[in-house]
Amino acid sequence: MIIIVMGPMGSGKGEQSRLLGQDLKIPQLSMGDLLRNLIASGTTLGKLSKEYVDKGLLVPDAIINFILQSRVQEEDCKNGYILDGCPRSLIQGVIFDNWLSTKNQKVDKVIFFDISEEETIQRVTSRAKKAIENGETPRNDDLNEMSIKNRMKEFFDQVLPLKMYYENMGVLQVVDARPSIEEIHAYIMKTLEY
Ligand code: AMP
Repeated sequence: MIIIVMGPMGSGKGEQSRLLGQDLKIPQLSMGDLLRNLIASGTTLGKLSKEYVDKGLLVPDAIINFILQSRVQEEDCKNGYILDGCPRSLIQGVIFDNWLSTKNQKVDKVIFFDISEEETIQRVTSRAKKAIENGETPRNDDLNEMSIKNRMKEFFDQVLPLKMYYENMGVLQVVDARPSIEEIHAYIMKTLEY
């Protein structure tokens, strides 16, 4: 089963995809995490990606497609996987679908976490504060106001057309992101049973 999880920053999509991966026993792949690992590796591609991630801008499609396609061909993905934060634009979605069709595969389900812009900004700010209180290093892009603004703009410009695309494909499920983590997870698991 190939599941894509979408939603604005701070919508809880990361935590929900982690729980889903645990229950369905398939890997959860976060493009943000894959990129942060690439950046930590200090390679040329990593350095280039950092320029975009720190500013809250989308990393170029060539890099994303390469990371995504290489990762999902690994052995642990053979029974399916959950993609968190990727594809994130119509063009990434179309390229991914075309690539999947060459393997006789398709996206089975897209879960979209619905949340208001105000709540999103509030959640990201408190995520950074909490990390500092716990003595952890907050994400660079959560501390930077311009990055938060860019990520919101990216969301409206890039993600919403992709959401429409999946709606037309008949695989989209919109989930209210406001209830508790447990409630949302239980709701998603229930809908997956049908
Ligand atoms: P996230 O951890 O999902 O919030 O992603 C952090 C950052 O990684 C984003 O603000 C982008 O700069 C970059 N990123 C993550 N996923 C993608 C993607 N599918 N396409 C382009 N850039 C991405």
